[in-house]
Amino acid sequence: MESVRALRTSAAAGGSGTRYLTPPTIRIGSVDGKKIMELGICKLCLKDKPLINSHLMARGIHDFCRTPDDDPIFISSKVIMQSGRQLQHPLLCRECDGLLSREGENWVLPLLATAEGTFPFHDLLLEGAPGGSDGDSKMYAASRNPKIDVAKLAHFAMGVFWKASVHPWRGGETEPLIQFAKYGESARTFLLGKAPFPAKMVLIAGVIPPPVKTIGFCHPYRGSASGYHNFLFFVPGIEFALLVGNTISSDLKQTCFASHRLHPILVSGGIAGSIKGVIQGSTAKAHRASNVTKYLIKEKST
Ligand SMILES: [Zn+2]
Repeated sequence: MESVRALRTSAAAGGSGTRYLTPPTIRIGSVDGKKIMELGICKLCLKDKPLINSHLMARGIHDFCRTPDDDPIFISSKVIMQSGRQLQHPLLCRECDGLLSREGENWVLPLLATAEGTFPFHDLLLEGAPGGSDGDSKMYAASRNPKIDVAKLAHFAMGVFWKASVHPWRGGETEPLIQFAKYGESARTFLLGKAPFPAKMVLIAGVIPPPVKTIGFCHPYRGSASGYHNFLFFVPGIEFALLVGNTISSDLKQTCFASHRLHPILVSGGIAGSIKGVIQGSTAKAHRASNVTKYLIKEKST
């Protein structure tokens, strides 16, 4: 054990300026050839602890998207494939992995859209009256619906984005799936409950009304916004967009599900296009702000 500890300490120390994309880990046990525990630096609490295999997308979502006959379909910016393979890596200590489950995943997963046509989260939303509409898009204020756990929905989305930002999650790649650069630390401390939602980030939540045709998910990928970074991913029925940067317009900040006091959620049949519309409508000066955005701004100022 002492030799393992010494080796681990020397590996973790690295040289000055050494930056590990993947925490240095050392396997310390196995059962029937399967890894059961590794030692390394937990990416979330940054403590030197035994690490467990964490999933980029919670295991429950894989099960959700699986039918009795088929493996789930997952989509990334580079590949669309049907596979039972789950992306996992010894990224976090047991406590931090449990924190992500407890503070987000466990609440969100049972509410996602199903292949049977149910969508409990959408049912919850409809219990509140829409606050604004624009074409087939409606904005619901989660702040007025006590059944919607705003903190857990935000924690879930940020947990997935953050995990994608600290590990490649693809064989042969060394760069993380998405890049938070200097803003990563604000996301990490938010997830730990040590800081409020990052000031330089905007989280947009969009819901597809049932029946949801795509019971699938995609891993976080970078969108095409200019002037700041935008990242997106979806799970059955809900798409999240995260804007990151110093130059996000104040109008666009009004659409943040996590930090706007109404905690707005967009519902629209063409959700990917709707989120894009909100982003473009708020940023392009030539465009009139959408009714949805105007509603949010008006509510903020009254
Ligand atoms: Zn930890």
